[in-house]
Amino acid sequence: SHPVYARIDGPILMIGFGSIGKGTLPLIQRHFDYDADKLTVIEPSAEAALFLKQHRIAHRQVALTCDNYREILGEMLEPGRGFVVNLSVDTSSLDLMKFCRELRVPYIDTVVEPWAGFYFETSDNAQRTNYALRQAVRDEKAANPGGSTAVSCCGANPGMVSWFVKEALLTLARDTGQDATVPSNSAGWARLMQGLGVQGIHIAERDTQARLKPRPRDVFVNTWSVEGFIAEGFQPAELGWGTHEPWFPENGYRHETGCQAGIWLDRPGAITRVHTWCPTPGPQFGFLVTHNEAISIADYYTVGAGASPEFRPTCHYAYHPCDDAVLSLHEMFGAGRQQSKHEILDVDEIVGGIDELGVLLYGHARNALWFGSRLSNAETRDLAPFQNATGLQVTSAVLAGMVWALENPDAGIVETDEMDHARCLEVQRPYLGPVEAHYTDWTPLQDRWEHFPEDIDPTMPWAFRNVLAT
Ligand code: NAD
Repeated sequence: SHPVYARIDGPILMIGFGSIGKGTLPLIQRHFDYDADKLTVIEPSAEAALFLKQHRIAHRQVALTCDNYREILGEMLEPGRGFVVNLSVDTSSLDLMKFCRELRVPYIDTVVEPWAGFYFETSDNAQRTNYALRQAVRDEKAANPGGSTAVSCCGANPGMVSWFVKEALLTLARDTGQDATVPSNSAGWARLMQGLGVQGIHIAERDTQARLKPRPRDVFVNTWSVEGFIAEGFQPAELGWGTHEPWFPENGYRHETGCQAGIWLDRPGAITRVHTWCPTPGPQFGFLVTHNEAISIADYYTVGAGASPEFRPTCHYAYHPCDDAVLSLHEMFGAGRQQSKHEILDVDEIVGGIDELGVLLYGHARNALWFGSRLSNAETRDLAPFQNATGLQVTSAVLAGMVWALENPDAGIVETDEMDHARCLEVQRPYLGPVEAHYTDWTPLQDRWEHFPEDIDPTMPWAFRNVLAT
């Protein structure tokens, strides 16, 4: 009963077989026609080796490095055929995508990942930003436009949330009696957002998935890559910086080069808290963890260009991970060292909870609109094997991105903002559980601790100054 979207001739290489790789495999098996002996997983871990052997999946047990990737991939790939699905940590997305494009092999990843060492060995904080990582991919696109399709950052976020922004804008246009004709390009979408009076967007997420066992001390528990979350949590907090902001953070820095859509704060994202809102909890704290989409969305919806455009939304992640992850962060930053043991909550040990992941568009005539997926772990179990709700929101976006890439093989390097959001959501939506729109009257000026004076701006409820918790 599952639709088969395309035939993939030639080698399919999956790089990385952690929580996301393991969840993506059954979707590839379900939705593409390909020769089973052409699919290989490149993954260094011994734990994955056993699973892959049991499931008769070809496995190359090796870690890709900047010294060996051309040789290893070169031996396995065939020009103009197949697909490379990069779901690993510690491999350079840019190098892998460039190599795939040289060979005209379609490519997809879920994050702009650098080679091992980048996150902790780079001393200059500006260089450790997602802005810098993303800009390198944008520069490559500008230097080599067109060509074989390489989809950059197509997971849940970054990824799916960019498609949600578009759905949310059309919903808001309809609900406020404005023209809801679907724009055909970035300029049109930016004008639509500007016309609707949207000042900014939180990628507002609340993960309530939990297991019965209390988190043991010195164990980092999360619902997806612990390594990935620690790495991004230690990067500087970052956000797309909107044109309506009347104030600039004391520890904020702009970039001199590139699109100039974002700024960074001289503080780790995972201990930088923001006031935000999700349907289940209502008001909550989220962490201002840096993410590619904070910059890409701010860039895509810019009217004008450079550091002082006519219009640009503020955009950032506001992430409340699962409660065990909140405790893990608290322990890690308090102790000043990473936990020795990492655990990703398994679909079968989770006893309840949902991953509520959406976009909160604020500052407009209806105040704020949250639009997103409220997928439960229980529903996930019925939809696809080997993953929890967090995983399925990511892997189904990878599926949608692969379908789009196969339908648009010569699109060059693209981010999810630049893809057909309706087609991608059409493929993804069966896996997202309830996808809902919720309006709220809440603003960051409400529900504060009134006994303590705060440096906030009462004239502009959604100013970042009010969103940032001190
Ligand atoms: P994970 O930590 O569970 O798995 C990563 C895998 O990569 C591991 O199995 C590891 O052994 C493998 N690996 C490490 N070094 C490698 C190398 N040099 N070559 C090949 N493989 C290597 O992580 P995950 O939860 O599966 O996440 C995978 C990637 O997806 C991460 O980069 C993560 O940041 C990203 N991600 C994106 C989203 C999104 O919504 N965009 C969400 C979750 C994860």
